[in-house]
Amino acid sequence: MRVSKLYQDSQKPVISFEFFPPRDEKAGQAFDKTIDALKPLSPDFMTMTFGAGGSTKDGSYQAVKNLMGREIPTVAYLAGFGLSPDYITQVLDRYRELGVETIFTIRGDEPREKDFQPHPDSFPYACDLIKFIASKYDFDLGCAGYPEGHIDAESLDKDIEHLKRKVDNGAKYVVCQYCYDEDFFFAYVDKCRAAGIQVPIIPGIMPVYTVKLTRMLAKICGTTIVNDMAANLDKLEGADAQAVLDYGVEFALEQCRGLLKKGVPGLHIYTMNRAPSTTRILTALRDENLL
Ligand SMILES: Cc1cc2nc3c(=O)[nH]c(=O)nc-3n(C[C@H](O)[C@H](O)[C@H](O)COP(=O)(O)OP(=O)(O)OC[C@H]3O[C@@H](n4cnc5c(N)ncnc54)[C@H](O)[C@@H]3O)c2cc1C
Repeated sequence: MRVSKLYQDSQKPVISFEFFPPRDEKAGQAFDKTIDALKPLSPDFMTMTFGAGGSTKDGSYQAVKNLMGREIPTVAYLAGFGLSPDYITQVLDRYRELGVETIFTIRGDEPREKDFQPHPDSFPYACDLIKFIASKYDFDLGCAGYPEGHIDAESLDKDIEHLKRKVDNGAKYVVCQYCYDEDFFFAYVDKCRAAGIQVPIIPGIMPVYTVKLTRMLAKICGTTIVNDMAANLDKLEGADAQAVLDYGVEFALEQCRGLLKKGVPGLHIYTMNRAPSTTRILTALRDENLL
């Protein structure tokens, strides 16, 4: 499945769910249950992340194989930080043999292991990795965008210049880091269009799963916790888990409604390998005929 074609041809917003590879056998069993629960929602595709420095190379491959074995259209991610061109070629060859057609290509971040040494021929930025893959393979390629700017970017404008380079080098669609205000997303799309980026740009949705996780991820990703959410998270501190999930679903639903009403080409939901919130969001949007 070539995702960019899906965005181009679909009459309805394209729905995708993101997962990370389970770390051990117990997590693997939980992952299988999550997929059993989410598959009946028939998302257009599912995606599997790839750990920094190749740390989840085999786990990502096995998880992609698992999804493809269930006949779920699957996008494999590749984070190239520090990896040699040979290593990347091996990963890509295996995905190609498996029948993967779309690779979401990211730079990744420096792994935490102290002794990690980037390969001298590794690719400094995602645009370089995309250029390399596009020159050797026929994969459909996607890349990451950041409505609030990448956390290390000099400025949002500079970050968009770099996004343009990724697209010029072969990325055919952009999936965005999540943000908690859809106005950030639409302003970003306007800026990208003004910069000459014409490919589909997809908003990322991260429901609130727990107060602690929401605050931690927002810090790592540079996502603003908008005022009313910050106040609600304070109120929910120490509340029971279900109340937090309910709030997260309601907030995400309101965001999705706003995005869909303005005609976004798709929604990409960060499931964090959990089924209930995503199930409730999708079911509600379908009941409201927004999907
Ligand atoms: C949807 C999504 C999925 C993700 N999945 C994963 C995953 O599976 N595994 C993982 O490890 N990480 C993942 N990430 C996180 C991502 O790897 C990090 O955000 C990483 O820091 C940047 O990756 P990138 O591809 O955006 O990098 P780049 O596009 O290379 O940008 C990185 C930084 O360098 C700057 N820059 C880019 N090009 C240039 C240039 N030519 N010259 C100077 N500066 C430049 C940018 O402005 C930015 O600040 C994901 C992010 C998103 C949004």
